[in-house]
Amino acid sequence: MSSAHSVLHDVFGYEHFRGPQEAIVQHVIGGGDALVLMPTGGGKSLCYQVPAIVRHDTGQGVAIVVSPLIALMHDQVGALHEAGVRAAFLNSTLDWQETLDVERRLSRGEITLLYAAPERVTTERFLDLLDGLHQRGQLSLFAIDEAHCVSQWGHDFRPEYRALSVLHERYASVPRIALTATADALTRADIVERLQLQEARQFVSSFDRPNIRYRIEEKKEPLTQLLRFIEREHPEDAGVVYCQSRKRVEELAAALVDAGLKSLPYHAGLPPEVRQQNQDRFLREEGIVMVATIAFGMGIDKPDVRFVAHVDMPKNIEGYYQETGRAGRDGLAADAWMAYGLQDVVNQRRMIDESPAAEDFKAVMRGKLDALLALSEATDCRRVRLLAYFGEASEPCGNCDNCLNPPAVWDGTDAARKLLSAIYRVHEASGLTFGTGHIMDIVRGKDTDKVRQFGHDKLSTFGLGAAYSEAQLRGVLRQLLAIGAVGLHKVAMDNGHSFDTLCLTEGSRPVLRGERPVQLREATAHAA
Ligand code: ADP
Ligand code: ZN
Repeated sequence: MSSAHSVLHDVFGYEHFRGPQEAIVQHVIGGGDALVLMPTGGGKSLCYQVPAIVRHDTGQGVAIVVSPLIALMHDQVGALHEAGVRAAFLNSTLDWQETLDVERRLSRGEITLLYAAPERVTTERFLDLLDGLHQRGQLSLFAIDEAHCVSQWGHDFRPEYRALSVLHERYASVPRIALTATADALTRADIVERLQLQEARQFVSSFDRPNIRYRIEEKKEPLTQLLRFIEREHPEDAGVVYCQSRKRVEELAAALVDAGLKSLPYHAGLPPEVRQQNQDRFLREEGIVMVATIAFGMGIDKPDVRFVAHVDMPKNIEGYYQETGRAGRDGLAADAWMAYGLQDVVNQRRMIDESPAAEDFKAVMRGKLDALLALSEATDCRRVRLLAYFGEASEPCGNCDNCLNPPAVWDGTDAARKLLSAIYRVHEASGLTFGTGHIMDIVRGKDTDKVRQFGHDKLSTFGLGAAYSEAQLRGVLRQLLAIGAVGLHKVAMDNGHSFDTLCLTEGSRPVLRGERPVQLREATAHAA
């Protein structure tokens, strides 16, 4: 009879469990359900592999591991084979004969761990197989990896995960362990509900990645800023630069090559063979900078990625955390660097507004975007904010930009009120709404054709904020958008295009009345 420790030692060659692994393993071996939140690299796999082996060796049959990532399945099954464990997978890469073969071995009880894609697990054919095993008491465990995929609030929703609730309904006595490296409170609650894990014990590890230094700066000239960051701090290092669009990926990758860096593009629009080739080079060669959309990264385990840069703001903190988490898996110092700007906020807001989703869904997405913007605009420790978002209290880290160089704070309340009254006045005067540039021109009292054309130099707010720089006003507007004190209103133009204009919202009122202060980073406020 094998105990957890001897499996850890004899099969995996490790001396000790790490962090909460032991508690999780014992709980699952004992037949309990578990929800495990552990950062990338924390050692989630052993949390179900060890119980699977122990339960199999005590006559309880096979463990089914649900995983969405084919590449990861192959790696893990390969590693288990090397360790002498009878593991197999079922996914779309197998032909009919191979599938039959795995199914046969499964019903004969010859497999300890079976990895399968979620859409496979919930087919009638597969459930029939599980029924047979279950009746003979040969179904030992369900492990659901990347469990956040079940939630539409998560950052990688996969509808086929929804059907996994059938596992509990059909095989209530079989223990289940769900695992994820990224889930805020809302996503977590959704996982519990969707997978019916109300009775499961939750094991929440610290999400802190102390070796990652978080830095967020305002976007002025993104290419120059990025080059300065890489050339000064990571001239020879491997890193990933995330962009929002495929077009930007290609432009930026080319620009980095022009600047003498070994840079490659990666996005879902490239031919599969090019993607594969670029990914292989990133993994094998030294010092490649991969410029990519979020299509890049899942399941790619390169320990010595020294930096992750975002030249555009991601959608939410979960995405940001997942992407930055790909830096420094080897535990050595690494940088997470981001540049963000007003246009990012406008773009992300628009994507949410224009999506066909239900209104309550959009409200949640806006809330998540605001949380990321609040992190970006924060004047206190980034890590404290980041961990707080995942429900973890901590002390200032001493290793983020704000801890190392505390930014001075600038009170933008007055500027905010002036911007809001300009937005109000132009609408009151003409029933029209205008874009950010024009509103700022009015507040600063600039004499432009457009200002004259609409007679906006006659408004009482014209020139009231002449003392503010454009950068200051831009910073204030970004905050106002973030906190929902300014809304976006789309205006169609004759040429078929449309552009975003600014309007007041319910949230404008407390700011206009001076009840809600608007604080900015001084560096942001006074930047050219
Ligand atoms: P995750 O899935 O949480 O990202 P993995 O399960 O891939 O993490 O584990 C990350 C790395 O840590 C792997 O190389 C694994 O072999 C190693 N590891 C996990 N648990 C232990 C342990 N108890 N002792 C030593 N190494 C471990
Ligand atoms: Zn800090």
